[in-house]
Amino acid sequence: MQGGTVAVVGGSIAGCALASAAARAGADRVVVLERTRGRLADRGLGLCVHDGRAAELAATGALPEGIAAHRLTRRRWVVRDDSAAGPSGRLFWEQPFPFHSYHWGLLWRGLREATPASVLYRQGVVVSGVADAGERAEVRLADGTTEPFDLVVGADGYRSVVREAVCPESRPSYAGYVCWRGNFDARRLDALGDGDWPADAVTTVCFTGGSCVVYRIPGPDGPRVNWVLYALPPQAGRLPFDDPTSFPPGRVTEELTAHLGALLEREFPPYWAKVIGLTEPADTFVQPIYDLETARTTAGRLLLAGDAATVVRPHNTSGAAKALQDATAFEEAWRRSGTWAELLHAYQAARGAAGREMVALARRLGRGQVEQTPAWATMDHREVQSWWQALLGGASDIGGQALRR
Ligand SMILES: Cc1cc2nc3c(=O)[nH]c(=O)nc-3n(C[C@H](O)[C@H](O)[C@H](O)COP(=O)(O)OP(=O)(O)OC[C@H]3O[C@@H](n4cnc5c(N)ncnc54)[C@H](O)[C@@H]3O)c2cc1C
Repeated sequence: MQGGTVAVVGGSIAGCALASAAARAGADRVVVLERTRGRLADRGLGLCVHDGRAAELAATGALPEGIAAHRLTRRRWVVRDDSAAGPSGRLFWEQPFPFHSYHWGLLWRGLREATPASVLYRQGVVVSGVADAGERAEVRLADGTTEPFDLVVGADGYRSVVREAVCPESRPSYAGYVCWRGNFDARRLDALGDGDWPADAVTTVCFTGGSCVVYRIPGPDGPRVNWVLYALPPQAGRLPFDDPTSFPPGRVTEELTAHLGALLEREFPPYWAKVIGLTEPADTFVQPIYDLETARTTAGRLLLAGDAATVVRPHNTSGAAKALQDATAFEEAWRRSGTWAELLHAYQAARGAAGREMVALARRLGRGQVEQTPAWATMDHREVQSWWQALLGGASDIGGQALRR
């Protein structure tokens, strides 16, 4: 299919990738509508992409070359053990971890720079609603104007306005726990001595009622350390968890900061408590964990991608890869289709089930690593492996599945 006009609502990871895909596939006009006015690249945090997914996405062009990435090969599981182990805790399991870590801002910048020049990227534009209007779709802007397009892509994340039109019955569901996240310049580690932490290793610190992953990421000014600690919040249910960024950097409440401090003191091996303690308050924030699945990813001339279509708990380490896979599936569906209806049908067929499978897997991972943690400290190697296999529930690994073609 050639030609046509496409609006992409949201200009983040999914938005840049879908806009590029539409332009490459042959759209006449592609417009990205992004509400943020400032630099999106400042949203610096870490994420990981499975090497298998990255290779597929590089081959399709969805993951541009040259974006800084840090190689990880293994994941080490540690638990506090005051009796025998040293300050780094007791290593009770090590498993392969074939991923590369990224800095969100650098990944976004790479995707944005790779967006074809023909794509019009408009910032400071808030979309207040969309409507399927038969042979076209309409975007309603917050300034009251309406713009028509042949297709509208919802890449507007967790609180998608496009999803409200495609799948109004889908609502994000709070997992019942939160994560504290932070990152800091890796040179600060020098103050602690070497510790027991090879650069290619992700460490998962395990405790009753939660876990924390720590790994290095690239950064604009050199390597950084990134961590995500999952646990129940204090006095669960009382905090205003109505938005995934309820407590942005620098605005974490005293209660949440004190709770983090108590967890580190009580549950963490001393070395890892000190590592987390190197984070500036301005670089720490708290995020409620949600997930969301949709019964459909298309309706009329509307289509959902990335977190707008599916929000997966972060334990699966798959959100960015999934957004880029959506872009690949979209481009392939476009190239194979002769009409808009065929394109939308092919995309739904390719991506509908994938999102739901990831949500289910990440729920199992969340149960095992936060909600119903096992007696990690007493598990032997075989027990840990069968616990992990039970969480995977038949999936070959975390990080998302290969694209089905
Ligand atoms: C704690 C945590 C850890 C994670 N770790 C990983 C990991 O290790 N690996 C991984 O792959 N993924 C990870 N993810 C997930 C990953 O970050 C996302 O899945 C991925 O970035 C895709 O996001 P997106 O582009 O779909 O949505 P978003 O990044 O939410 O972007 C949506 C965009 O739409 C814009 N927008 C929203 N509404 C409107 C509107 N009405 N009008 C105009 N613009 C609008 C927003 O400003 C925003 O720029 C993690 C997520 C969390 C929360």
